[in-house]
Amino acid sequence: AEELLRKSDKLSIVGQLAASVAHEIRNPLTALKGFIQLFQSKGIVDCEKYYGIMLDELNRIEQIITELLILAKPQSKTVEKKGIKELIHYVVDLLDRQALVHNVHIVCDLEENLPLINCVENELKQVFINLVKNAIEAMPDGGIIHIDSERKGRNIEIIIQDQGCGIPPESLKKLGEPFYSTKEKGTGLGLMTSYKIIQEHFGQINIESDSGRGTAVQIILPIA
Ligand code: ADP
Ligand code: MG
Repeated sequence: AEELLRKSDKLSIVGQLAASVAHEIRNPLTALKGFIQLFQSKGIVDCEKYYGIMLDELNRIEQIITELLILAKPQSKTVEKKGIKELIHYVVDLLDRQALVHNVHIVCDLEENLPLINCVENELKQVFINLVKNAIEAMPDGGIIHIDSERKGRNIEIIIQDQGCGIPPESLKKLGEPFYSTKEKGTGLGLMTSYKIIQEHFGQINIESDSGRGTAVQIILPIA
């Protein structure tokens, strides 16, 4: 009976996800259809001004599908022993330019000689990319992102702290729900993907936030 219950739980989660994916993709599709019907009924004069909006809508669909594919990827997963320091430096190098454009500085304080962790490298990189991007996006007027990591017993603890807009208490419980986003161009899939990946690595993500003062995301990963 327990097994059955677990199966029906899974089904309803899949059903919920399918419903929200369908909803999220139908909105931009309906908008695109409207534009095409408009062009059709009025002839194709003067439609250039709508191209920008249409491209935005298409980009949105593309982004949603790209992120869902990361989540669904059946590709072979190679688990390797990796150093968290190298992984974080890779992500910081990748996002530093984008950060500086927004006047955001990334400061790392990573303990030396941290033990290795077992991980699927690309998946963990994706998590750090998602979290650092969120931190950058939370600080439209610039600021500092602190990334610290240290050993805590059998685990490695990484903290990504920003000085951004923060998350009000009533929204904290919605984090990780598919498509929960407060951003105009957000997909609301980054945190859900990150939670899933960290869970598959036998780790944990905890988010603490002070509305208006900043957010700290703690990632705990077991040592190999
Ligand atoms: P997206 O970034 O596409 O909106 P995410 O799943 O990455 O989707 O994040 C969901 C929501 O969580 C964001 O829209 C934002 O409201 C909130 N959030 C996540 N990280 C932060 C952060 N560092 N500071 C403030 N809000 C955040
Ligand atoms: Mg995000």
